[in-house]
Amino acid sequence: MRPPMKSSGSASAASRTHERSSSFVRKRSDYSDVGKYRSNLNLAARSTTDLVHSPSMTTFQPCYYFKLCLEFMLSLEYSKKLFNRKHNRCYCEKCYTASSKNFYVEGGSKYVIPRGWVRFGLYIDDAQAQAENIWNKWVVSYHGTNPQAAKSIIEHHQFLLPGDQCIGGHVIRIREGHILGKFQVYTSPTIAYSGDDIYSPSISFRSTSGQSYKAKVVLQCRQQPGTYKIQAETIDAGSRRICPIIPNSEVEYFTEVRSSIIPYGLLIRVFQ
Ligand SMILES: [Zn+2]
Repeated sequence: MRPPMKSSGSASAASRTHERSSSFVRKRSDYSDVGKYRSNLNLAARSTTDLVHSPSMTTFQPCYYFKLCLEFMLSLEYSKKLFNRKHNRCYCEKCYTASSKNFYVEGGSKYVIPRGWVRFGLYIDDAQAQAENIWNKWVVSYHGTNPQAAKSIIEHHQFLLPGDQCIGGHVIRIREGHILGKFQVYTSPTIAYSGDDIYSPSISFRSTSGQSYKAKVVLQCRQQPGTYKIQAETIDAGSRRICPIIPNSEVEYFTEVRSSIIPYGLLIRVFQ
């Protein structure tokens, strides 16, 4: 098991708190074009207001990129009841500036900020979160997947392993190319790895403006230290460095302990 990494100094408890608390409070300067946004919405997108606004979020104004990602997210038709707006966060260039930190240390490991992605917060079990102290003791990890599998994980409130029966009766089969008898969940400390096409395929998406895009989904998780193993990349990256922060030799986590991973955010990236 990897020894706890040293804090980068500035990644102190105070700065972590700032990063976390800023997830809940949006700047006033971000409010500019809600009227324009509303007027441009079609029927499907009109329901975005349910996710974007809440009584305590009168000061919240999502940026254009957030709205675009939200439009894609709504097109996936997940139940809105699964989402906790308080954990919504945009990591676009405007909302998370170049001078902001690229990583923090959480649970003794580096948490690589998912620059370029938007997080839609998910409800998690508060009692479990407090009992396990997951916000302070568990590491942040990412799980790249497709929208259908992400929906299943979110709806089941946990990762499923091959052999598990889903709520709908469907039994999870082992994926082609995976090793038989190895029932594991794969995550990564860096979204540069989890967001690779191998894990998170690009999906075509046409916005209400008529513009064609591609989109990806990745789950952001808290993962219990000591329950997973760390290994090198398995996507044949060769000499290509996948993430400037996490070395290729440490970009993949795997575990058989499904309850040791709690997805708390659906990350979406939209691009052309
Ligand atoms: Zn933004």
